[in-house]
Amino acid sequence: MGKTPTVANQVLAGHGTTIFAVMSSLAATHGAINLGQGFPDEDGPEDVRQVAAEATRDGPNQYPSMMGVDALRQAVAAHDNRFYGLNVDWQRETMVTSGASEALASCMLGLLNPGDEAILFEPLYDSYLPLVERAGAAARLVRLEPPDWRLSEVALAAAMNNRTRVVVLNSPMNPSGKVFTEEELEMIADWVHRKGLVAVCDEVYEHIVFDCLKHVPLMTLPDMRAHCLRIGSAGKTFSLTGWKVGYITAPEHLLRTVSRAHQFLTFTTPPNLQMAVAYGLNKEAEFFAALSSDMQAKRDFLRDGLEGIGLQVFDSFGTYFLNADVSSIGFAGGDEEFCRAMTREARVAAVPVSAFYRDGDVRHLARFCFCKKRSVLAEAIHRLARWKRAA
Ligand code: PMP
Ligand code: GLN
Repeated sequence: MGKTPTVANQVLAGHGTTIFAVMSSLAATHGAINLGQGFPDEDGPEDVRQVAAEATRDGPNQYPSMMGVDALRQAVAAHDNRFYGLNVDWQRETMVTSGASEALASCMLGLLNPGDEAILFEPLYDSYLPLVERAGAAARLVRLEPPDWRLSEVALAAAMNNRTRVVVLNSPMNPSGKVFTEEELEMIADWVHRKGLVAVCDEVYEHIVFDCLKHVPLMTLPDMRAHCLRIGSAGKTFSLTGWKVGYITAPEHLLRTVSRAHQFLTFTTPPNLQMAVAYGLNKEAEFFAALSSDMQAKRDFLRDGLEGIGLQVFDSFGTYFLNADVSSIGFAGGDEEFCRAMTREARVAAVPVSAFYRDGDVRHLARFCFCKKRSVLAEAIHRLARWKRAA
């Protein structure tokens, strides 16, 4: 008998299974409405899907350029000009990736060396920390606190040292629903510029912002053009999360560095889907405005429902998510216990926000995803109200 192999990368083994998979699986087991993992329950625009269908039938279907198909790269550059006034050279400054996930992985692996440090804002999207650590670098966490998740300059300054190379900025921010203010962006820009850092800007929710706020890419601030990699996702912008088409806009020197990792990770992304996303990015302004206003109406509906059962809900100015304080309805346990009990007993799933903290030490928040049909949100609220009454 041979030996059972126990070969595993220690960093990844230490991070276990992502909370999104864990909660979606628990939701399926209990027939729960899944307000955990963030994905819409209605597919995005039919015309975009139609272009994908035609491109699947007629091509292109073979390996495209590793940087992406020309039409999509041109569309990314045009989009960035239309929405943010950026002048982007599509041939030198855009790259298509397999989702924002791969863009993030390419950035961390392409930019960081062992001994380097990256600054991350907590609560953080779940892939950042494992990617930074897998690259051999160390993460310095700057914690933002509810209700406004304000960034303090003292905390930011304290995280900086001569090993700092990268700052990862996610605005609108998952899971908090925070949109960084102009003042905060200026503060970050100032540090990035003075210290010669690179900002990896995860802007996947750029078109999902509420209350008349405007998304401002860090890249558009003075002196920031040379320091920023801006990441977008067709999954979020077109409500097609399974497609995994992402894109990066960056100055040539940074893009080349990051493409060194991309070429060995995925190399290319399905060209038929790229054609459809190229078409989508050129859609009329009303489409993008409607995405935000539809999501805002869903946010309001779920927030009112959660407040109606007595939960304290924090403001969300962007993303798919609302956070509620589980202790506000007298729940004595932590967030994970709450989310598991709610999934099992109320048959509504949410994600425990402790999963977005390195040490899991913030345990009073549950993240609810509102990008669902109104009837589904209404049923979830109904189930929660019944659960609360029975408690
Ligand atoms: N960053 C953030 C903040 C996200 O919420 C997501 C959503 N999954 C991603 C990156 C990954 O996006 P994609 O599905 O395009 O890989
Ligand atoms: N971004 C989504 C979320 O935060 C889902 C990500 C995933 O499933 N990996 O829920």
